[in-house]
Amino acid sequence: MNIKIAFHGAVGRTTGSAHILTINDKRILLDCGMIQGIPHHYNRNFSFDPRDIDVVVLSHAHIDHSGRIPLLFDQGFDGTVYCTPATKALAKILLLDAVKISKEEAAKEQRKSKGRYIEPLYDEEDVYNALKRFETIPYHREEFLEKQVSLKFLDAGHILGSAQPILDIDGTVVAFTGDLGQNDQPLIKNPEPIEKAHYLITESTYGDRIHPPMEHATKTLGDFAKFVTREGGKLVIPSFALGRTQTLIYFLNELFEKDIIQKTPVYIDSPMAIDATEIYLKHPECFDKETVELLRSGDNPLRFQELHYSKTHRESRAILTGWETCIVFAGSGMCNGGRILDHLLNDLPNRKSIVLFVGFQAKGTLGREIVDGAKEVEIYNKKIPVRAKIKMVRGFSAHADKLELKNHIVRIKQKPRKIFVVHGEAQQSLTFAANIRNTLKIWTHVPQYKQEYPLKPMN
Ligand SMILES: [Zn+2]
Repeated sequence: MNIKIAFHGAVGRTTGSAHILTINDKRILLDCGMIQGIPHHYNRNFSFDPRDIDVVVLSHAHIDHSGRIPLLFDQGFDGTVYCTPATKALAKILLLDAVKISKEEAAKEQRKSKGRYIEPLYDEEDVYNALKRFETIPYHREEFLEKQVSLKFLDAGHILGSAQPILDIDGTVVAFTGDLGQNDQPLIKNPEPIEKAHYLITESTYGDRIHPPMEHATKTLGDFAKFVTREGGKLVIPSFALGRTQTLIYFLNELFEKDIIQKTPVYIDSPMAIDATEIYLKHPECFDKETVELLRSGDNPLRFQELHYSKTHRESRAILTGWETCIVFAGSGMCNGGRILDHLLNDLPNRKSIVLFVGFQAKGTLGREIVDGAKEVEIYNKKIPVRAKIKMVRGFSAHADKLELKNHIVRIKQKPRKIFVVHGEAQQSLTFAANIRNTLKIWTHVPQYKQEYPLKPMN
């Protein structure tokens, strides 16, 4: 048996996840994610030949793990994409959303390139064609991809449906963490421990950081809600439709139910969040015990009296023009587009309002500019003064921190032979790798882009 692994994305960065596991002449692609922070249309150029790939194994639906799958088919891949049932459902809405984003990005790049035509990466038809080739495997079921190669998904506890693919190659076990969640996130289960792995590919988004506890974050959220109700302002939360929004809704429901904060209308101003929440409710197999019990007792933490979803632009306008105190979620999470812009236009100049950031803000985005303390920002070509309070809460992260990442390795019963550290900015990955090498005495390496490493069979 000849086994090799090569890293074609998410090295030295957190986007573009793509790793090729070669077993004799078969090639399994682990994830096929969109690369962010480069010109959008560069995503069309693969660093390998899509025709050489036999199977795709998808860890979860986030675009930086799934976003290039339609392109892969377009360029000659003709195999199956394996994922969990919830991942397939979420991938549909995220990939369809990626079509819209791709159109906007292509138009932007075309304007910059003085009229040279730049085509969007793919259209809706490409997405539907790709989805036809998705096959789902529930958690824990062993599926044979080849006579001696089996695949099993363990829960990664990152977002709904997220998995850690475990490949058993005639006794040699290669495990991939995908994106690993933080313990005790609401709704979904905790990341499952890996029992056995000779070779481990681990993420390292927060390989150098420790998260504050989630209870602190929730208390802070409550304090901000109290402030706006007292002052008569709005609490505006830029948030991606999937994951963080549902986490915060869950905690708000808890704050209301425990009478910690006064009941206030909560608006989810995002058509995609409605679809995402529906998918959550259709996949109870992913829920943790607390959520299952809540639902069983008739208490749905994602649907409560104060919570309103606004789908149409008219409904969105009604929130904007209303004077009432409320809590509003809108995308995009980094404020580089979407309905959040209208809310910022409205509420940034208002001293009684709070704009609360709950996720990482990348360089070059409007969100980052605001977080960095800009006194004035430009939205739709208008200069808007920043008078609202600008706050950031970090504890709601969907990623494990350095302690949880390390503990995940410690819990593997038999020490892995080799560990490859991916999916982190260089600093995070290198620090985490050094930490594991020095404290656990395991060969741990941050791989080079496109470099191939042989994996010695273990039988
Ligand atoms: Zn993710």
